[in-house]
Amino acid sequence: MKIGLIKEIKVHEYRVGLTPDCVSAYVNAGHTVFVEKDAGVGAGFENSEYEKVGAIIEENKQKIFDDSEMIVKVKEPLPEEYDFFHEGQILYTYLHIAADKPQAQMLLEKKVKAVAYETITSSEGGLPCLTPMSEIAGRLATQEGAKYLEKPFGGRGVLLGGVPGVKRGNVVIIGGGIVGLNACKMAVGLGANVTVLDISASRLAFYDDLFGSKVTTLFSNRTNIVKAISEADLVIGAVLIPGATAPKLISKDDLKLMKKNSVIVDVAIDQGGCFETSKATYHDNPTYVVNDVVHYCVANMPGAVSLTSTLALTATTLRHGLAIANKGLEKALADDKHLLNGLNTYDGKLTNEAVAKSLDIPY
Ligand code: NAD
Repeated sequence: MKIGLIKEIKVHEYRVGLTPDCVSAYVNAGHTVFVEKDAGVGAGFENSEYEKVGAIIEENKQKIFDDSEMIVKVKEPLPEEYDFFHEGQILYTYLHIAADKPQAQMLLEKKVKAVAYETITSSEGGLPCLTPMSEIAGRLATQEGAKYLEKPFGGRGVLLGGVPGVKRGNVVIIGGGIVGLNACKMAVGLGANVTVLDISASRLAFYDDLFGSKVTTLFSNRTNIVKAISEADLVIGAVLIPGATAPKLISKDDLKLMKKNSVIVDVAIDQGGCFETSKATYHDNPTYVVNDVVHYCVANMPGAVSLTSTLALTATTLRHGLAIANKGLEKALADDKHLLNGLNTYDGKLTNEAVAKSLDIPY
């Protein structure tokens, strides 16, 4: 199969859909891979590294689209990329079309066969191509929070681990799923006092088993949230109600209860955020201040650690990508119901029920 690797054009998106190692796997299986010039540079991979494993470097984006049966990307196509696609082309990337009708219409009109990373499932349950990004965002949440607590970055000037004779910083994590767990691991590792709030009793029991007395677990209710944030140096928002926007758990007025120059990292911002005052920010200007509380609300946090994120993403996407190339899309889908769950559009029709419902387009 002829495969095209496209350079991302979204602002501050440095990840790439295939590493040189991935390209080597495709080439060794007998496929041809066109790599758009500089596609991997943001993640630390030079054109020469792709060439060395047999890729063809191409500067002309349209030519790559014209010559490729499958396009591999990271982010959804942006409007300026819509015209590049041709009928029957396979697209393998994060799509998130449920909230993006123009993109859905383009894929349907052009009869693109689109497989979305985010709806591929696994036999263990869960969404294997989303999990690594939540893990990264969670770990980064604590790292970024620690940085913005530093005085020169607008914070309280608190070191989360303290030092002998000086008390540790307080980290409060609201939502103890994948993001929360990874934020917690980093905060415990830094030596902070950590409190985790969740509505799931079994999830809190899991934390208790894992961290013992190193972490305080609390039911997520109004009383506990208000008390916890009033004592916090860093609050991390990591709630998710699947298929819904995030609940607003902390109001603008609640911020007045918080310590001056404390920090909020709202990881749930991609679902609207769980603080009333959250609005999406970008890596080039990630924070703003409301009621003396520093807000960090970057919606694509993993993009900041593009090398780690690319390695984590491609480790999960390569297997299915190779299956598509080796068997052809239709046979690969017939052989694997988890890959089939990833198919969002085919021959001008939506093929994922949840996506079709969100878009209000017949399925
Ligand atoms: P998850 O489903 O693993 O965990 C969500 C947790 O929130 C669950 O444990 C659930 O019980 C809990 N929860 C639900 N309602 C709650 C409430 N009212 N109070 C406290 N806890 C509550 O989800 P996840 O993978 O950890 O993702 C969390 C959020 O982070 C999602 O919105 C996800 O899209 C987002 N995310 C953002 C980025 C980014 O770059 N900003 C990256 C990855 C994930």
